[in-house]
Amino acid sequence: MKELNALLKKFFGYTSFRPDQEEIIQTILNKQDTLVLMPTGGGKSICYQLPAIYLPGTTIVISPLIALMKDQVESLVSNGIPAAALNSTMREEERQKVKQLCMQGKIKLLYLSPEGLMSELNGLFPRMEISLVAIDEAHCISHWGHDFRPEYTQLSILKKEYPSIPIVALTATADKLTRQDIISQLNLSSPRIFISSFDRPNLSLTVRRGLTKKDKLTAILHFIREHKEQCGIIYCTKRDDTTAVAETLTSYGITAAAYHAGMNAPLREKTQNDFTNDRIQVICATIAFGMGIDKSNVRWIIHYNTPGSIENYYQEIGRAGRDGLPGDTLLFYSLADLIVRRRFAEESGQTNINLEKLNSMQRYCEADICRRRILLSYFSEPYEKDCGNCDVCKNPPERFDGTVLVQKALSAIARTEESIGMQMLIDILRASGRAELTVKGYHLLKTYGAGRDLSYKMWREYIYQMIQLGYIEIDYSSSNILRITPFGRKVLYGQSTARLAIYKEPERMEKPSSKKDNKGGFKARPIRPVEAATIEETLLDALKQLRKQLAEKEKKAAYIIFSDAALHDMADKKPLTLENFGEIKGVGQIKQEKYGKVFVSLIRFILKKDSE
Ligand code: ADP
Ligand code: ZN
Repeated sequence: MKELNALLKKFFGYTSFRPDQEEIIQTILNKQDTLVLMPTGGGKSICYQLPAIYLPGTTIVISPLIALMKDQVESLVSNGIPAAALNSTMREEERQKVKQLCMQGKIKLLYLSPEGLMSELNGLFPRMEISLVAIDEAHCISHWGHDFRPEYTQLSILKKEYPSIPIVALTATADKLTRQDIISQLNLSSPRIFISSFDRPNLSLTVRRGLTKKDKLTAILHFIREHKEQCGIIYCTKRDDTTAVAETLTSYGITAAAYHAGMNAPLREKTQNDFTNDRIQVICATIAFGMGIDKSNVRWIIHYNTPGSIENYYQEIGRAGRDGLPGDTLLFYSLADLIVRRRFAEESGQTNINLEKLNSMQRYCEADICRRRILLSYFSEPYEKDCGNCDVCKNPPERFDGTVLVQKALSAIARTEESIGMQMLIDILRASGRAELTVKGYHLLKTYGAGRDLSYKMWREYIYQMIQLGYIEIDYSSSNILRITPFGRKVLYGQSTARLAIYKEPERMEKPSSKKDNKGGFKARPIRPVEAATIEETLLDALKQLRKQLAEKEKKAAYIIFSDAALHDMADKKPLTLENFGEIKGVGQIKQEKYGKVFVSLIRFILKKDSE
């Protein structure tokens, strides 16, 4: 085991394993088939990369996306681990070279797509020594999973052709059916199953509901201001919104770009590259921007629209904070989104499953209890305390006696004989003079104007709460009209009281007069750290500047040079010698040799300046 720890330090720069990693590795080294379920960012890769280094021969890694392979190979090579990919986009000459190296036993990890595997099964494989097969994103093999890929089903042949080579299948999708399906389709022989906790305590969870489009944008601008120079993803349902949001952000001096499946491939690739290399701070994307994103320093995720299921939501927010440092997530929830999602679900061919998933998502958004508890209970993981890192925990809602408000709303619904939707209800309460309203004679109702004292937004917020508290129900099957529940009738008739959470105004945001926030240009430049409040912050800023310059020089993503976590550790420990530098989290032998000098001298310089 000592030996494994030494390899972990030498090649990955970490001093300890995360929960489960060590046992998983032992199981694999014992040549037992293994199934690993770990959330995104949990640290799956090391589970097969370390055995690959340890075992004689080559480990085959099956991965669904070429972009993903490229990133992994680059990252391994930068840590001094001989790795390569074999795929259809490579020139024949290059492919031959890789194959040659494999046959000579000079490659420790070979990345292949499922199709690639099929074509090498009888050509290259018999001529090399294979120690292990790792199947990444293994849920792609299952119809039950949400990412089914037909090519993955061919992998069943592996166990038949090579029964003695152990297989490790890895995925971040947890449900039982998918799990069983992976095992049976891959013909795994009595595999050991590892299920890690799905908790990602470093991700903060926030839901905001019922904001208008304009308020949403304001909230987003505010959020990005608070996450200065930290990159993030904004997920939108519609392609048009990706472009519109990106344009708005750009007009505020933020570097942002849109990404969706309707864009041509070169442009998509360029956008993704720009994001990976920190040339773009914000990507506004549909879910087309997903699996290939292995960037460990995505610091935040915003859902511009409500996702269709908790699985999707969790996977998408999981792209933030993969390096273990804090990540912030913000989800906008609206009735309009819910209606669109219901239609998708109804047209999906799996109506019942998808409507049920949507209902769970809705309950999550509307809840007033710790959101992490809801998420983890959804994944069948017991979680008995409040997390302290979600909006509900941080701001337990302040409540007031809202009985009269509820009565006003319910009475208007009753007097229109349950035939109106949310907008009409608010218009009646606020005495709108809209033609549709007067034509129907609603201006003659007793409740007309009974809620004049509250703004439109306030009413909308309170009606949402009434829905959440179970006084009102939306009848989706009948043009989304509002209906009073039996529970609501009790409040209406004074047999029960209602407590509502106090409405809070969304924050405002002024357009900047100059665009000085806009970081253009990427020329090499002297490092001028900001004068921050603490030396650690100043140092961190300087280290980031250095990392960025190195990344540009080497044409690599910044996080391939060092993760954010590594820079934080440097700012914290302030290593002044090469030896101390080697003790930093994420600094293996190769990186110590390659970058130690420049980083140490920068740290010395900054500390010296600080003490002057
Ligand atoms: P996954 O594939 O499960 O989404 P990764 O394998 O990409 O996650 O790991 C996520 C991040 O965690 C990476 O930056 C990785 O270097 C880091 N990591 C993995 N194992 C450890 C460890 N034992 N100690 C510290 N960091 C680790
Ligand atoms: Zn919480």
